Amino acid sequence: MKITSIKSHVLRYELDKELGYSQQYYKHRTAHLVEVETDEGITGWGECFGPGNIALANKYIVEKVIQPLIIGEDPLNKEYIWQKVYNLLRDSGQKGMPIQALSGVDIALWDILGKKTKAPLYQLLGGKCNEHIPVYGYGMMLQKKSTAELINLFKEEAKEIKSKNFKAMKMKIGLGAKEDLKLVQAVRESIGKDFKLMVDANHAYNLKDATYVGKGLDELDIFWFEEPVAPEDYEGYRQLRSRISTSIAGGEAEFTKYGWNKLISNNCIDIAQPEVCGLGGITEYLKVSALAQANFIPVINHVWGSAISIAVNLHLLTAQPDMPGGLFPSKSMLEFDTTEKNIFITDLPDKDFSILKQVKEHNGFASVSDNIGIGINPNKDFINEFEVNE
Ligand SMILES: [Mg+2]
Repeated sequence: MKITSIKSHVLRYELDKELGYSQQYYKHRTAHLVEVETDEGITGWGECFGPGNIALANKYIVEKVIQPLIIGEDPLNKEYIWQKVYNLLRDSGQKGMPIQALSGVDIALWDILGKKTKAPLYQLLGGKCNEHIPVYGYGMMLQKKSTAELINLFKEEAKEIKSKNFKAMKMKIGLGAKEDLKLVQAVRESIGKDFKLMVDANHAYNLKDATYVGKGLDELDIFWFEEPVAPEDYEGYRQLRSRISTSIAGGEAEFTKYGWNKLISNNCIDIAQPEVCGLGGITEYLKVSALAQANFIPVINHVWGSAISIAVNLHLLTAQPDMPGGLFPSKSMLEFDTTEKNIFITDLPDKDFSILKQVKEHNGFASVSDNIGIGINPNKDFINEFEVNE
């Protein structure tokens, strides 16, 4: 089999209201799909992490930089292709956009392998370690409102997420250390003390402010404090970890086994959050997961993007062993977007793919299907309607 073409589809639509996280507000939702065609008529689909205009830059890398390097190669030689592309891009990008672009291509190659061998992805990854995956809802994004208004909005949204049967929930922070603690306290009061709550700062803080927030979170029984400091600040992560008792999660902005080796060997995190669509694809995710396992760090994947990304993550989590294991192990979870209706999840797939319905009907759990490959393909008409080139 040979690769005959690699196309990139950047999809975008405007949200009804602006949402935000600690770095910016945004009005558009983006997804970036990669389509790899072969001479046997099998087409693989992948997805690249990278919102907004980053997706357009990544499209250029996929089509103009990576495609010419691997056209004509056998798509089943995933490891060879990964190493070839990484090696040739090494001098120009060991992190960031070139690796995000490579991720989408690599995921599509795994989809091709599944379709060629007529096996669901989880079987190619070692088979089922889990029948059902607990799902947590992320929402409570920042909005251009006063803290008092945001507190009221978050309290309502938290109740709504809980009513949908999610196993846990995650909120954004980043308003400033003191304001953040008011916000988290309000949400904690709204959902009660027995519900798992996580907070995500999207690296809003330096060590001193992160310590202040972290000590406050210690009092509010928070399940994890995500990206408290900048991804490059390994020393900040390490010191914060020794100062607070709340678990520290991170890694969504870390790339490849080389980057992850640094993050883990510097004792930065209690929970690893690899982003398969950004760190280098499934081929590299498996190595990062092995690194985390060898260091007894639980892996709870970062999930962002369309139904393609969610399906891939559901396979990865299905095949993931408990760390360390036991009769009552602490389970990984699937991250799921609960914000304003996300049509890249609900309307993009060609088959029924409703995580929300599964969560509602199965008390917070979702399961993977036995469809071959990733298990879903995007609807071509949907792509045509939402594709943008600038
Ligand atoms: Mg995050």
